[in-house]
Amino acid sequence: MGFKARRKGDQDLARQVARLGHERISRLLALEKQRIDYPPERVRFTCVSDVTKYYWCGLMSILRAREREAMLFGVYLRDRLNLAGRHGRIDSVPESDDDVLAICASFSSADPPAECWREPRESGGGWDSYNEMVEMTKMAGLKTRWSEAGFDVERYLARPLPSARWHFEWKDYIIVCEPDGIAHDYVYEFKSVKKRDWISERERRAVLQAQLGAFFFKRDAVQVELAALDKQDVLERAADAGLRDVLQVLRKFYMAESGQAEPVAPRPFKCHSCDYLRTPSCTLSPLLCMG
Ligand code: SF4
Repeated sequence: MGFKARRKGDQDLARQVARLGHERISRLLALEKQRIDYPPERVRFTCVSDVTKYYWCGLMSILRAREREAMLFGVYLRDRLNLAGRHGRIDSVPESDDDVLAICASFSSADPPAECWREPRESGGGWDSYNEMVEMTKMAGLKTRWSEAGFDVERYLARPLPSARWHFEWKDYIIVCEPDGIAHDYVYEFKSVKKRDWISERERRAVLQAQLGAFFFKRDAVQVELAALDKQDVLERAADAGLRDVLQVLRKFYMAESGQAEPVAPRPFKCHSCDYLRTPSCTLSPLLCMG
């Protein structure tokens, strides 16, 4: 996924880039915020799925964005350093933090470069192949975690389309965007749910995620597929690029993240499975008033 190394020099660089550790990434993130005079406590690097999570729970989307910022900044660093290698600008990761940040910032955050595209993966074989994999996993006595099952079903059922990953600037943020597919005239997202009854809850965010992809990669329409594992069917949804909805969720996220507006409390059932419930981070849950 992301940038493929081609020449030997690129591969050496890619190995160095992959070894950038958490400590250096965190230091670079703090320096990057200083460099552009950005409040250290604010989120600067986020991603499309954290933004659309706003419609599940506004507070959760902000808390997740804070937790995942260093990881997403790492994606930005790795992609851009590898790209600098592909352009022949560096053959190793610069020792100077300032040089690393200057190189990464020198690429446009509006136009994705040609190198950020990836080829479509092979077609996965559909439900039959998926069920075969589930059977084999069971026979081997292994348990499939839900997060892995969701990934697996995508591998077997999602449309094989090319895609790309890039880091786009919107207002205060650099937003990492990597749709499941980008066709000539639409952006594609694939999601799976355990139970068909959950699809309507998931659908809105899936369409919005695709629409954010269309916004950044400049496509006019989106197509979404939602697979229900219990019924083994796939619902298809098509929509326009939904510019109004895209700007609305971006603004809501921005207002909450920058502390200018309080997120609205979610419906109580959403809190039951939330890791932030009864932690100091969450003071918003309606369950807290229910004892
Ligand atoms: S516990 Fe509820 S209100 Fe708090 S972050 Fe989680 S989902 Fe949101």
